[in-house]
Amino acid sequence: MVMGDLVDEVDVAVLGGGPGGYSAAFRCTELGLETVVVDATRRLGGACLFEGCIPSKALLHVAAVLNEAQRAKDFGIDFGEPRISLDPLRKWKQERVVGKLARGLASVARAKGVEVIGGRGVFEDATTLRIEDGDALRKVRFKHAIVATGSRPSGLPGVTLTGERVMDSTAALELPEIPERLLVIGGGYIGLELGTVYATLGSRVTLVEMTDGLLPGVDRDLVQPLQRRVEKLFAAIHLKTKVTALREAGAGIEADLEGQGGQRFDRVLIAVGRRAQSAGLGLEATRVRLTDRSGFIQVDDRCRTEDPHIYAVGDVTGEPMLAHRAMRQGKVAAEALAGRPAAFDNVAIPAVVFTDPEIAWCGVSEAQAKDQGIEAKISKFQWAASGRAATIGRSDGLTKLVADARSGRVIGVGIVGPGAGELIAEAALAIETAALVEDVAATIHAHPTLSETFMEAAESLLG
Ligand code: NAD
Repeated sequence: MVMGDLVDEVDVAVLGGGPGGYSAAFRCTELGLETVVVDATRRLGGACLFEGCIPSKALLHVAAVLNEAQRAKDFGIDFGEPRISLDPLRKWKQERVVGKLARGLASVARAKGVEVIGGRGVFEDATTLRIEDGDALRKVRFKHAIVATGSRPSGLPGVTLTGERVMDSTAALELPEIPERLLVIGGGYIGLELGTVYATLGSRVTLVEMTDGLLPGVDRDLVQPLQRRVEKLFAAIHLKTKVTALREAGAGIEADLEGQGGQRFDRVLIAVGRRAQSAGLGLEATRVRLTDRSGFIQVDDRCRTEDPHIYAVGDVTGEPMLAHRAMRQGKVAAEALAGRPAAFDNVAIPAVVFTDPEIAWCGVSEAQAKDQGIEAKISKFQWAASGRAATIGRSDGLTKLVADARSGRVIGVGIVGPGAGELIAEAALAIETAALVEDVAATIHAHPTLSETFMEAAESLLG
């Protein structure tokens, strides 16, 4: 790095230190490129580590432990009523989970020689970033930049009320208290995951979803078992309903639910989607182009933008906004700018909703196969017939397989049940490697495991 007039010269400047950004930076240094990461928080991990995937999964683990203890009554074990101490719980999440992983990432960066620069990066032109950190100003000149600035929670249209009782996912993950009555707006990933956490910890959760079903766009066969479960866990679920106003009412919040008048809650969680963070980056000083409405950065399959110096990865480039997609894109961008023949050409991007039961899917769904005119064969293996599911008292799962009738290839898989998020990895490998249904059926799966349900679903298609 050449210092002088406070301008650093590097091969690659990565803007944003989340999973997309740090994966890109680490791969760049492995390829011999001098690389810096610019992040306002001065640390690596991004929304995933500090306010998303990791803390939410820690809390969902706590919810799973509570649920298992409750279920244990079915086989004669009563642990009694749980006593929940929020301080140790927050400390465990913050220090033993998030803090530990953050320290790990920082030491990987040090070992690889990736400098993390604290500050807000703004493009001055297509090869210069201005980094503002309070009064301090620094510039980085680069041969290539990778934009990995991620996304942030969307607000609720027409609702301006703010304050600590109106939470987005970041605030809710802090676990400020366990409110007696919690309104969750949005029945997607976050509404269901955090609604589950709060309901299991003792809140009376009311969930409002504007479409006619939970997790819009996800196969209904997979959503049904989860819906049955949350119908019991939550105090109320209102589908086809919008919240038209929120206002302060005493120590709580009054919400107007369309067609149902006002209802009182102690806190509200707004989880109605996420938006790209592409504004305020100075992209207008470059040739980078955004998509029309949503502000996503347009990239090709090598993660190149319209500007030859600038690449982009992760949530800021569009759906699906998932950390593992960002990580793969980060590696592709690093290799592409280093002149290697890499492309983001994955056909299976697994998606997991970490509720109880978990839902996971990848590849083509039954509905998508129909829409795309693919002649598909569908197989559904009910976990009621799985020995392993019986031994854990969870026969409510389903493994569903979509195969291309002509080629015999596995093209889509959906799973609902405990552990679905782990089980989907085999399905992603099968789809990515163009496995045939008979390959899956002829592969020996350990008995008794839930993974057998994938083999069974394949076998039943062979006739
Ligand atoms: P989402 O898109 O999953 O769900 C938003 C939900 O809110 C939808 O069901 C939508 O119909 C509903 N909605 C929108 N406007 C509404 C309104 N005015 N009133 C009532 N309902 C409304 O978004 P999210 O749950 O906020 O999560 C954001 C993104 O974060 C996800 O798309 C996902 O990419 C990512 N995420 C992933 C995971 C995971 O991988 N497990 C977990 C959390 C978040």
